[in-house]
Amino acid sequence: MVATPIEPSAAGTVPWPADAAARYVAKGYWDGRSIAAHIYAAADRDPDAICLVDDHARLTFRELTERADGAAVRLRELGLRADDRVVLQLPNCWQFVVLTVACLRLGVIPAMALTAHRRQEISGVVALTDAKALFVPGDDPDFDHQAMATDLVSSAPSLDHVLVLGGSASRSASRSASRSATDIAGLCAPAEHPAQVRAELDATAPDGTAIALFLLSGGTTGVPKVIARTHNDYGYMARQAARVCRVGRDAAYLAVLPLGHGFPMSGPGVLGTLMAGGRAVIAPSPAPQRAFALIERERVTITSVVPAIVQRWLDYRDATPDADLGSLQVLQVGASKLTEQLARRVGPELGCALQQVYGMSEGLLCLTRPDDPEDAILNTQGRPVCPDDELMVVDEQGQPVADGEPGVLLTRGPYTPRGYYHAPELNARAFVDGWYRTGDIVRRRPDGNLVIEGRDKDVINRGGEKIPAEEVEDGAYLLDSVRQAAAVAMPDPVLGERICLYAVPHKGRSVSLDEVRDAMLGSGAARFKLPERLVLVDDLPRTPIGKIDKKVLRADIAARLADEAGPLAQAS
Ligand code: AMP
Repeated sequence: MVATPIEPSAAGTVPWPADAAARYVAKGYWDGRSIAAHIYAAADRDPDAICLVDDHARLTFRELTERADGAAVRLRELGLRADDRVVLQLPNCWQFVVLTVACLRLGVIPAMALTAHRRQEISGVVALTDAKALFVPGDDPDFDHQAMATDLVSSAPSLDHVLVLGGSASRSASRSASRSATDIAGLCAPAEHPAQVRAELDATAPDGTAIALFLLSGGTTGVPKVIARTHNDYGYMARQAARVCRVGRDAAYLAVLPLGHGFPMSGPGVLGTLMAGGRAVIAPSPAPQRAFALIERERVTITSVVPAIVQRWLDYRDATPDADLGSLQVLQVGASKLTEQLARRVGPELGCALQQVYGMSEGLLCLTRPDDPEDAILNTQGRPVCPDDELMVVDEQGQPVADGEPGVLLTRGPYTPRGYYHAPELNARAFVDGWYRTGDIVRRRPDGNLVIEGRDKDVINRGGEKIPAEEVEDGAYLLDSVRQAAAVAMPDPVLGERICLYAVPHKGRSVSLDEVRDAMLGSGAARFKLPERLVLVDDLPRTPIGKIDKKVLRADIAARLADEAGPLAQAS
């Protein structure tokens, strides 16, 4: 077989400027190798070490690579080639990891969807990425993904294959022989001639500049924004995070958050751990009973959660003080703001170090460091993992503010792409001279650590899931009884924020929360985007320039909640 190097797909991506790229290569951040090449190098060092565990499988590095190679060969037999796109919409399980590695090996680009996504999001991503295959669960009690996928096949011209995990793949209707449903279990069987296949796939490995995967981030139209991450940038970030977190061959990383998110995949997550020669343990959910049992059984050393889960784990710990969490060294907490009150409880009650994490699918990853003083670990969201991550904190006029002053964070660096995929109009707003405008309001302390103070983007952060307000408002406008709508975050003791919808009905009409939710579900929106409270008003407050004043609405719902909680709760 002749080796054919893969050209990166530049179409639709915004490349780093040549001088920046040259600098990142010279500094060794971008090493030109695929992420899979790093995992296979770790596998060669320790082929018999257990590296991937879930409730149903325990794979050694040799077994992981042979299965990934087997999957790569079968994906190729389905007609998938380097630079072809697929959408992975799978629950946390070993097959998710094997398929991701298979794609990284072949240069097939997986778009990392969530099982919570529904027709609206998935059809949008399939269309935007021209995906040829869609991987779905076959036995999700909450939703028939297979039916959704089959339906999409008939409307999405690019989509040739539906691959189903568990359930009965054969029942899935196929429109024609080439548009078929395939069972993922068979796909992930080991390669038949492992050495030969290994050599063949090594020879055609993607270049570091090729797109490794697409991460998704909430988009205002119901279709997620797509972020193309290269092997160079994403691989560097995950390896650097592993270095900062001291994740090496002895590490056991427990993934409890959905693997479609960057945090459990690469901060250092599963990929950073595997590249470092460590072991990834996969849990289907962050439910504490199962997570604690896995920590004990697998001697887990590090895991990552969102603040809402910290609360659940602390409660569970109170109730079951005997669970042996002694192996756990680090609990990473990020994706939304951790209160100091919860932060203080992590060390004493879970017996491990806290690490705060501030990151985004668009790139920048900040971590507190193991040796930081307690104050930094408890009260900041860390600092960038790379010395060449550039940060600028600006005021409303775009002028840099002094350290310690709040402002909007802009960033650029070796793993922060310069634009969204196929989104020139959005890029014109979200990127300023190559700097990504995070929309987060931060303060940079003299020690370099960032404190997240709020945000100037119209997004609700519901327990770590980001929901653009406009999506909820568009959902409300599906009802012809709604004249005006505005969605805002309402404070919530568990999730941090939930979605509150303010609506002005047309004269003489009524609107109910259930009607809005049903309309959104009917339009194929994901359940986590549904409003959880509706406030009907005669009019919406406006700013002097006529925009809906969401500050007033946020204050209003906070006051209503405080009133409802009663004077005792307010005093406590
Ligand atoms: P995502 O791309 O879904 O990971 O979302 C990234 C966004 O999540 C950031 O721009 C922040 O708004 C928010 N975020 C991430 N980490 C934190 C944190 N530790 N504290 C507060 N907000 C956070």
